Amino acid sequence: MAKISINLKDGSVEKESAPSAIVGIDLGTTNSLVAFINNNKPVILKNDRNKHQLVPSIIHFTQNGEIIVGDQARELITDSPERTIYSVKRLMGKSYIDISDSQESMGYTILSTDEDKLVKVKIDDCYLTPIELSSHVLRELKTIAEQSLSQEIDKAVITVPAYFNNTQRQATRDAGKLAGLDVLRIVNEPTAAALAYGIGAKNSEEIVAVYDLGGGTFDISILHIQDGIFEVLSTHGDTYLGGDDFDHSIMNYWIEKYELSLNQESGGKHYGQDLRLLAEAAKKHLSSNQVFKAKLNDMDIQLSRNQFDNLIQPLIDRTLLSCQSSLNDASLDRDKINSVIMVGGSTRIPLVKKMVSEFFEQEVNDTINPDEVVALGAAIQADILAGNRTDMLLLDITPLSLGIETIGGLMDTIIPRNSKVPTKAGRQYTTSIDGQVNLKIAVYQGERDFVSDNRKLGEFTLKGIPPMAAGMPKIDIQFIIDGDGILRVKATELRSNVATEVQIKSQYGISEEEMALMLKDSMMNVQSDMDHRALIEAQNEGQNVVLHTNKFLDQNNWLEVTEVDHLQELKSILISMIKEGTKDQINSAMDNLNTYSRPLAEKALDHNIQSALKGKEIL
Ligand code: AMP
Repeated sequence: MAKISINLKDGSVEKESAPSAIVGIDLGTTNSLVAFINNNKPVILKNDRNKHQLVPSIIHFTQNGEIIVGDQARELITDSPERTIYSVKRLMGKSYIDISDSQESMGYTILSTDEDKLVKVKIDDCYLTPIELSSHVLRELKTIAEQSLSQEIDKAVITVPAYFNNTQRQATRDAGKLAGLDVLRIVNEPTAAALAYGIGAKNSEEIVAVYDLGGGTFDISILHIQDGIFEVLSTHGDTYLGGDDFDHSIMNYWIEKYELSLNQESGGKHYGQDLRLLAEAAKKHLSSNQVFKAKLNDMDIQLSRNQFDNLIQPLIDRTLLSCQSSLNDASLDRDKINSVIMVGGSTRIPLVKKMVSEFFEQEVNDTINPDEVVALGAAIQADILAGNRTDMLLLDITPLSLGIETIGGLMDTIIPRNSKVPTKAGRQYTTSIDGQVNLKIAVYQGERDFVSDNRKLGEFTLKGIPPMAAGMPKIDIQFIIDGDGILRVKATELRSNVATEVQIKSQYGISEEEMALMLKDSMMNVQSDMDHRALIEAQNEGQNVVLHTNKFLDQNNWLEVTEVDHLQELKSILISMIKEGTKDQINSAMDNLNTYSRPLAEKALDHNIQSALKGKEIL
């Protein structure tokens, strides 16, 4: 679809050619998926190499330097644990200190030379960061998407848990970059899940609980969603509770019941692994059947749904305690939750659904495949970013500040960066010249103090201001960013109601790199910007004082000649300082003028009152 848009680089109107596809990625602890919108519906992408749509987030490094990701890598965990890396997500953005107390012992070597530094994984003589490791999973997903869509993919939205901190989010973004993906947005997993269920349409308000029970982790998030803004009210969870624990419960039950020994000779090297796989198969089978029966080394073993439920009930109880804590943190009662969304493979277990719906006293939303729901939501977010959805709002914050140019080329920020959208903010301005009838309004985006260092988004003129003395017009400038990320700027002269409005598309046309550069630039130039800003502000203030002095002299012709002369002299000094003085010299010239004129102003006030009262009787 061709689209007309404003080029934010030069303000020109241009026709965009077909945009490249943006995919949605769920980069999971156990499995990852990539999704895309096809005919308005999100679908999970797969290729011939992958047996399933789920790509196990597992990376194997062969002896000869080959890298294998996904199903094939999973098969190598038992034989070659030291070269097969799983659960990388647990390491993202973490230092050795962060993970040193974790309960998990990985089959591979986690290394840290300095306890404050981010962890690395050792394979042969190589040290790999979780970012590099995750990038292999992302590259695999990118390949799947490219093969499936027959086009190059270089843009993605990636989901992360709501509790991920900045470092973890940045690490995820970097992993994307390393995989050759421009990560347009990092989205919270519960937000994506809610989006997949169509929550977040315009003009709606809802409180949603997202219950996410995967293979190794449990998260509960409570979201407040209003007019497309997703706010995480609270999140709780257990980073070591999930389907794997259910498998272990079954294993332990069988070991006891059938008096199995994990190191028994008969089973050979893979006995423990076989038992674990059988336990997982039993668990999955019992999600839709009442009894599981199998043979293990010629022994008949079985498990009923009831027995399974008894085994896992205490674990589900633990998740409900987290749900209660989450409600407490959000200061909400259960009955305030409008919908409960189920995410993660383990929510297929009937007892999980039953206990969660009893806890929240309502039916849970489980119609979308719980393994896919996050990736599908990410694809919807990608579609919103691609500008293909008008029924949904753009869920976003402003990445850079927005403002207008004021006298001296200064940037006057009206909407600061990181404001939630939709948003609205305004400020009043006035004219600087007597009788000014037009006012040019130039809109900029960026963090620097001077508009010349920021990006110009557009310019328009408020025409037809009735002629008034400088400073008299009251010009109200409103910035309105709607849910689609479209900025409208409205200027109104309040005394006369003369108004004009323009629409500026503000979210696109600026790459992450440009954004990062601009932010970096603003940090590096803080001091020089501040100095320059202070000088310009002093010059502007000085100009105002000169204007007022002129007006004062015009209006008070009764002043004594010496007074007038002295005022004129101080004014000339100020004017020359404005032209070539420093900020301090301007300020001191202003101070001198103000100190001398203050008693004259009081005298003028008395004089005016006396003339006003002349001829009138005081009662
Ligand atoms: P996730 O981390 O969301 O990919 O979830 C994976 C977990 O879901 C694993 O522990 C799986 O064993 C579990 N799982 C997948 N399908 C089922 C099912 N039908 N019944 C119970 N658990 C399942």
